[in-house]
Amino acid sequence: MKAEIICVGTELLLGNIVNTNAAWLAERLAGLGVSCFYQTVVGDNRERLLETLGIAAKRSEIILLSGGLGPTQDDMTKETVAEFCKKKLVMDDKSRAHIEEYFAARGMKPSENNWKQAMVPEGCRVLDNHNGTAPGMVVESAKGRFILLPGPPEELHLMFEESVAPYLKALSPNVILSQTVKTCGLSESAVEEQIRDLIDKQSNPTIATYAKTGEVHIRVTAGGETAKEAGKLIKPLVKELKNRFGNDIYTTEDEVTLEKALADLLTSAELTISCAESCTGGLVSATLINVPGISELYKAGFVTYSNKAKRRLLGVKKGTLQKYGAVSSQTAEEMVKGLLAETKTDVGIAVTGIAGPDGGTKEKPVGLVYISCNVKGKITVKECHFKGDREKVRRSSVTAALMLARSCVLEYLSKVTFGK
Ligand code: ATP
Ligand code: MG
Repeated sequence: MKAEIICVGTELLLGNIVNTNAAWLAERLAGLGVSCFYQTVVGDNRERLLETLGIAAKRSEIILLSGGLGPTQDDMTKETVAEFCKKKLVMDDKSRAHIEEYFAARGMKPSENNWKQAMVPEGCRVLDNHNGTAPGMVVESAKGRFILLPGPPEELHLMFEESVAPYLKALSPNVILSQTVKTCGLSESAVEEQIRDLIDKQSNPTIATYAKTGEVHIRVTAGGETAKEAGKLIKPLVKELKNRFGNDIYTTEDEVTLEKALADLLTSAELTISCAESCTGGLVSATLINVPGISELYKAGFVTYSNKAKRRLLGVKKGTLQKYGAVSSQTAEEMVKGLLAETKTDVGIAVTGIAGPDGGTKEKPVGLVYISCNVKGKITVKECHFKGDREKVRRSSVTAALMLARSCVLEYLSKVTFGK
C-alpha cells in the first residue's frame, strides 16, 4: 500500500512552525507497514492545493492531509478535497452536536464559523476529534482515498490512533511486525559491511540500518497473515544478527535505551555506579536517572566544572592540572580514581572535554573529550574527537560515556566469570 503525506499551512512554508506532523505520521505509517514515498508542504491556497492533490492522486493509493480543517477562512483543506473529488459538502449531524456540546461545556456559544466545521464531503467517513472540535474525514472517491486530519498535533495524534490506524490495518489484512536490534560503538558503514549479504537478499523480512548518536539500529520487518507468522520470519534473522555482532548489540527490544541496558547490566552484576562530569554538566547522571528504579545502583554525581572543584571534590592533583590541563587523559584518570574513593561505588564514569564554541586550541580543539571508567580499581581512559556544536558534543559525550561503562563492565564480568 503506497501512501503520501500533504501538510497544509502557510506558516509551515514560512518556517514559523516545524512540521512535526509529517515526521510523526511517517513514523507511524512505517510502523504499520504502509510505504510512504512522498511528503509535500503546501500553503493555504486553493489552486496550489488542487495541483498538489492532482499529483498525489496519480502516484499514491492513500493521501494523508494535515491542517486546514479549522473554522477560519484560511482553512480550506476540506473544501478543496471535496472540490477535487467532485463531492458536495453536507452537514454532519453528529459533528454539529459535538460542536454544540463542546462549546456548552465551556459556557460559550459557537460562532457562525464554527458550524463550518460540521460540513463534510458527502458520503465520507467522519472521524471524531476527542481533543478539539474539527472532525477528521476519510473521503473515498474515484480519485483516491484521502484522510483529512487536524493540524494541532495533540488532535492529530489521538485521531490517528483511534480511527486511522484501525482503518489502515483493515485495508491491508497483513500484519506487519518489526524488531529493532540496537548496536553501539560501531559506525553505520561497519554495520552495513557485516550484513551486506543479508541486505542484498532481503525480501520478507526486510532489513534496514538507522544511525543515531553513537549507535546504529538495525530494523527487521516482516509481514504475515498473523502476528505469529510474521514473528516466525523475524526470529531467525535476529538470531543471525546476534551471532554476527555479539556484545556490540545492547538490546533487541524496541523500548530499551542504552542507559536502560547499562542499568540492567549493573543490576544483574550487583554493581553500583557514580559519575563525575565537567563538560557534560550532569547530563550523564541525568540520562542514567531517566531509568526508573536506578536508585538501587546509582549513588552520586559530581559536576566538577572548575579546576578547584576537580581538586577539592575528586582529589585531582594540582600538578596534574598544571602539567597536562583539565582536558587530558591524566585528569580524566584522576577524576575517576578520586570518584570511587569518595563514593565507594563499584563503577565510576568521568568526563572532561571542550564542548565549544570557545576554549579550543590547535592542540586541544573543540570536541576533544576524555572519558574514563573505573571498575573496582581498573581504570580505562578513552580519547574522543566529536564534531558539531556544543549541544552535539555534549550529547555524543554522554553516549560515549555510557558505551565505555558498558564495555568496561562486560570486560570485568568476563574476567570474573573466567576466574571462577
Ligand atoms: P485549527 O482548528 O486549530 O485551525 P486546523 O486543522 O485548521 O486546526 P491549522 O490551522 O492548519 O490546523 O493549524 C493549527 C495549528 O496546528 C498550527 O498553528 C500549528 O500550531 C499546528 N500545526 C499545523 N500543522 C502542523 C504540522 N504540520 N506540524 C506541527 N504542527 C502543526
Ligand atoms: Mg486552522
